[in-house]
Amino acid sequence: MSQTLIKNINILSMDESRSVFIDGAILIENNKILEIGKYNNIKPFLKNEVIVEDGKNNWVLPGLINTHVHTSQQLGRGIADDVDLLVWLRERIWPYESNLTEEDSYISSLLCAIEQIKSGVTCFVEAGGQHVNGMGRAIEQIGIRAALVKSTMDTGIGLPKIWQKDTNEEIDSQLSNFEKWHNVANQRIKYWFGLRTIFNNTDELIIKTKEIADKLNIGIHMHVAEIREEIEFSKNTRGSSTVTHLNKLGVLGENFLAAHCVWMSDEEIQIFKNKNVKVTHNPAAAMKVLGFAEIPKMLEEGICVSIGTDGAPCNNRMSLIDEMWLTSLIHKGRKLNPKVIPAETVLEMVTRNASECALWDKEIGSLEKGKKADLIVIDPKTATMLPMHDPIANLVSSMRTHNVKSVMCDGKWIMKNEIIKTIDEKMVINESIKRSKEIIERSKIKIPKRFKYI
Ligand SMILES: [Zn+2]
Repeated sequence: MSQTLIKNINILSMDESRSVFIDGAILIENNKILEIGKYNNIKPFLKNEVIVEDGKNNWVLPGLINTHVHTSQQLGRGIADDVDLLVWLRERIWPYESNLTEEDSYISSLLCAIEQIKSGVTCFVEAGGQHVNGMGRAIEQIGIRAALVKSTMDTGIGLPKIWQKDTNEEIDSQLSNFEKWHNVANQRIKYWFGLRTIFNNTDELIIKTKEIADKLNIGIHMHVAEIREEIEFSKNTRGSSTVTHLNKLGVLGENFLAAHCVWMSDEEIQIFKNKNVKVTHNPAAAMKVLGFAEIPKMLEEGICVSIGTDGAPCNNRMSLIDEMWLTSLIHKGRKLNPKVIPAETVLEMVTRNASECALWDKEIGSLEKGKKADLIVIDPKTATMLPMHDPIANLVSSMRTHNVKSVMCDGKWIMKNEIIKTIDEKMVINESIKRSKEIIERSKIKIPKRFKYI
């Protein structure tokens, strides 16, 4: 039984009553939190061989949970800036993704996971790539927690040949991925079913996916009501807008995680509320190309909303800390109301809400006795974050990625004093430089040169 005690630390627990312990301590045994609170109350539980860490008056937070990440797209950062959505998708992203090998996906996922860890993320929900084995190997090795997803497509104009699969082929590949990756790596990895968008999924695939996911007791992750054209497409091909149609199909429910949700009517927000559908808000991607999602209204209605970074070609900074800041800002500006989405809510969105969206709330999402030891240590003593007059506001509006000092997932330090402990970061960087060039050459993607290159 290995024990680690972190003392002299301020704890943002995000527990039921949102307790904040000033100069507190947290005791970890194996991969769980054994005790948390004031040191004197924890002292009786210490064993002789306990490892004691000095928290140096830093802050400890629950590991942040990113609920929409395309790990396979990390090597495509910068291939699709300042272009419209159709160019983005058909001329850049599809050629890129369809030319990835499993090994490319492995390196891309490692690079993405490193960026996630450095920005305080201990768990993410994959949004969907193709090589689940590549993602899975990376996540198993680097030590983060994740729900993996393959993006399924069984219809659609202009799909690369390699992706032209029928409904049963897509279901079969999902089932074999589930067999291989669900509940592996000490249960750190789960496997969900993914649906790309209504543009690329038949009703048959959507319905079958829901039936199987319910039977296996896993989640479904789908891009929903993402762009205005999607609503027109859904009305023309299905007779109603995306959410209304999904509701008619009977697939909406508490294991359904809908990404983006920008183009929804008030009635559709009510449908989400009634069906307990979960939402992942991706503010940077939304501001780049999608539009404003009605997140304040969804939160007001009690819908469980979390935050995601989306993929590197549409964000392009994959830091959930930056997304927290954006979430706190953009809706205030749009509504001309500084009280919209306060800091407490943003922190809930990346911890408690996100753990519910990830269907993992019994084990993560807050620092509490008996929960998994997924935590991050924040050093606020930098020119960019001091002073700490209002720590809760500061954690949202002033914290940067460089304030994340150390990261623990499942009871293990995966980053300590800013050094990734589980993989050779230099190797990942070098491989990423090499492979990203090769992918662009292989896929013949044309990225116009800007300014004058000499
Ligand atoms: Zn996405």
